[in-house]
Amino acid sequence: MTAEAFDHFYAVATGLVAAEPELMEFAGWPAITFVEKAHTPLPVVEILAEYDLDHTGASAELHRAVQAVAGYADWQQTYTEQEVGADFLARYGYFELIGPSGHFQSDQIRAYIAYWGHGLVYDWHLHEAEELYYIVSGSALFQAQGVESKVLGPGDIRTHGSNQPHAMTTTDSPVLTLVLWRGAGLTGLPRMGRA
Ligand code: ZN
Repeated sequence: MTAEAFDHFYAVATGLVAAEPELMEFAGWPAITFVEKAHTPLPVVEILAEYDLDHTGASAELHRAVQAVAGYADWQQTYTEQEVGADFLARYGYFELIGPSGHFQSDQIRAYIAYWGHGLVYDWHLHEAEELYYIVSGSALFQAQGVESKVLGPGDIRTHGSNQPHAMTTTDSPVLTLVLWRGAGLTGLPRMGRA
């Protein structure tokens, strides 16, 4: 059952990436192998189950596919309560879809599914790997050093350069995202701060 849910999820994600040239051009989309991983539950699993789809765009099927695998995924959180607060941790989580330690293994790219509840401030942070955010559902204000701030919604894309500080604040809606990483620092983690 786990493998079937992830196979369907991977097929949907692959179809979406193939249909969006900017996603495909960012890092390609490797043929990879599914790896059985233990489910790591977080509060976000139940939150996602009740997160009604709020649009009918190209990413609607991926929203539903995320919901279908949420109960099997290896959910993680990068930050501590001191860094982001308890409310943030109660309404945020991500899992590594593709990558060195992902549900599908690749050394070429990392792809995450990440969720934040409404009204959360993901403060300034940076990381060496280059990054692409694709909004699956919901919306958030994206800020990055050197570029204009913008509220993004379903189907919108934002990229961050290597070590370019960036921040995100969700609106009155949650945000569900597909996040791609490429280049040096692929196995690193973000760190809070602007430098
Ligand atoms: Zn980032």
